Amino acid sequence: MTDWIEDGARALATAHARAGDYRATVDTRPPRPTASALELEALFGGPTPEGGEDWAGVIEALDSAARPGLMAMTGRRFFGWVIGRSHPVGVAADWLTGVWGQNAANYSASPASAMAEKVASAWLLDILDLPRQASVGFVTGATMANFVGLAAGRNEVLRKVGWDVETDGLFGAPEVRVFVGDEAHATVHAALRYLGLGSRRAVRVATDADGRMRADALAEALAAFAGPKIVVAQAGQINSGAIDPMSEIAAAVTAAGAWLHVDGAFGLWARAAPETAHLAEGLDLADSWATDGHKWLQLPYDCGLAIVKDAAAHQRAMSITASYLPPSGSAEHDPSLYVPELSRRARGFAAWAVLRALGRSGIAAMVRDHCALAARLGAALAVEPGIEVLNTVSLNQLVVGFGAGEAPERRDDLARATIAALQEDNLCYAGGTAWKGRWAMRISVISAGLGEDDIDVLAGAIIAAWRRVRA
Ligand SMILES: *Cc1c(COP(=O)(O)O)cnc(C)c1O
Repeated sequence: MTDWIEDGARALATAHARAGDYRATVDTRPPRPTASALELEALFGGPTPEGGEDWAGVIEALDSAARPGLMAMTGRRFFGWVIGRSHPVGVAADWLTGVWGQNAANYSASPASAMAEKVASAWLLDILDLPRQASVGFVTGATMANFVGLAAGRNEVLRKVGWDVETDGLFGAPEVRVFVGDEAHATVHAALRYLGLGSRRAVRVATDADGRMRADALAEALAAFAGPKIVVAQAGQINSGAIDPMSEIAAAVTAAGAWLHVDGAFGLWARAAPETAHLAEGLDLADSWATDGHKWLQLPYDCGLAIVKDAAAHQRAMSITASYLPPSGSAEHDPSLYVPELSRRARGFAAWAVLRALGRSGIAAMVRDHCALAARLGAALAVEPGIEVLNTVSLNQLVVGFGAGEAPERRDDLARATIAALQEDNLCYAGGTAWKGRWAMRISVISAGLGEDDIDVLAGAIIAAWRRVRA
């Protein structure tokens, strides 16, 4: 018979040992998984478990099955998507979170979970220099944070014209028009779908060469509609890292009496460093913000932050009440008032721990260094004949084209081939994207602890792949 204390401790110790080994070797292993889908299915496979197995043995089997299918996202050679490094302190706090097994729904269920979120929220607002009275919901990621911010906005703009969408829904409601930059992230459109606002109904506003929404085009579009309006701006375009001209956008939105939501999954963190804060000037003038903890803050998956300036509007959109869920007192804090879920992981513990481990100055230095490293990479690539850096590298992102001077179709083929060659070499990882009608490599410099040597290895790998493709 299994013993919860002894067998449980062995399972935890096994995980600890395996974790140490993984972190010690991840920097030197090829970033891309080596096993195929069929091989992985076989590694995980087998008949439905019938009798139950030794607990520590299950953990060993899990680690063995997973390893060949893991992308080295926490390693120094990984530059795909926009992915932080799962800070060891965050991982350790996350282990305790699982060990404690808290349901973070509300204060009465888990006072410590609630207060860690409350305190981490205040620190986050301070570091991001957002209105200190704003409320913060800890969600799974920027996708849900966009959903929450836009839900608060939808309800508020309708409330102002006398419609209670919470009780009466959207049928028969005045039309709400949503204005979105043409290079908005796909999850904004997903959130609009979830909210009954439709993805195709949104007015797409023209963007500039780096994907920034044009404030003049927005002002013009806003003037053409008299009803309730929501504007979705962006801080950190997923490919280029560009941040919309927030001060101008905020002025246009204020003049139009609209709600301003900002998708700032990673770009919001530009505000955390003195060197980049000017890029995100005026961003504090919005009504709601979405950002991620698992991108620039390096939290382990998953953590997103839904921030709303008017806490009452936030609560009206999200709160769940029931007789068995007692409301908390004024000094307390009920996390479920700010998120779509009731039962939920206590994400505040990892956030609190990583904020303490890095501190304001550590976060600022990290953001600054990543941007400087991105610029270094851009400079190294731009001197290679045939390679073009297609975006203004103002933040941490690069969009790189191959085959300068070739016909468009040929350039796309060369880009695809170079990305494939880089991934085939499996020394460094970067993926591809469509950028302004052209296929390109996209690179994200966002993993904590990277140095100039890592960037030089990446530049060398990309140039070597390109030279082989061109030859
Ligand atoms: C990553 C990202 C998202 C989606 O965030 P998730 O954490 O994947 O939910 C939304 N918008 C932007 C700009 C992003 O970079």
